[in-house]
Amino acid sequence: MSTTDTLTMPAFTAWLAAFRDRVTEQRSYLTELDSAIGDADHGANMARGMAAVMEKVEAAAPPTADELFKTVGMTLVTSVGGASGPLYGTFFLRFGMAAGAVTECDAAALSTALRAGLDGVVARGKAEAGDKTMFDALAPALEAMDAAVASGASLAEATAAARDAAAAGRDATEPLVARKGRASYLGERSAGHLDPGATSAALLMEALAEVAAS
Ligand code: ADP
Ligand code: MG
Repeated sequence: MSTTDTLTMPAFTAWLAAFRDRVTEQRSYLTELDSAIGDADHGANMARGMAAVMEKVEAAAPPTADELFKTVGMTLVTSVGGASGPLYGTFFLRFGMAAGAVTECDAAALSTALRAGLDGVVARGKAEAGDKTMFDALAPALEAMDAAVASGASLAEATAAARDAAAAGRDATEPLVARKGRASYLGERSAGHLDPGATSAALLMEALAEVAAS
């Protein structure tokens, strides 16, 4: 396998659509997770936000990655009330800025852009490892992806590694006590439940791996 394979503009759009489909299908599950340690709106927030994103993207058809992901980020920031709107919004805004005015990304460029997105989430929400947030799925995913890219993996292999690490990171949030966001108000009672945002972040990486493999 080579590292020359890339994600093109249609693939970026397919990634977003696949994420929209997953959060829509799993809306009730995400809400159930958020009802245990939050305010039962994560499924609704993500499904509404990604539906708005796809409407905008399909109407505007931005020609380059920076414009596409700026549209995505701005739409999430403005259409989702919960913490996840600004956080995912910032993720995509920073992702697009790092990707630049390009029409495709190879695995290394994708990894760099994802890292910039995660840095944006941290700049905005100050989450650290083990705080029981989306960070706990995204950070190990990007570490796995970087390692795969460094060892010469293909885009499909690197994103599959990221997907698997995100799922493991999501699962590892279950015993954690939340230290950020609404769930932190519960203190010790937040332990014993998966974090909703880590669960949706694992869906984001699943969607990416699916598109990269197709
Ligand atoms: P809200 O908490 O405002 O109701 P959501 O329910 O949509 O928003 O999203 C909750 C998720 O947001 C959490 O499960 C967590 O993963 C994520 N989150 C909350 N605060 C932070 C933060 N400071 N940094 C990173 N992620 C956060
Ligand atoms: Mg909530």
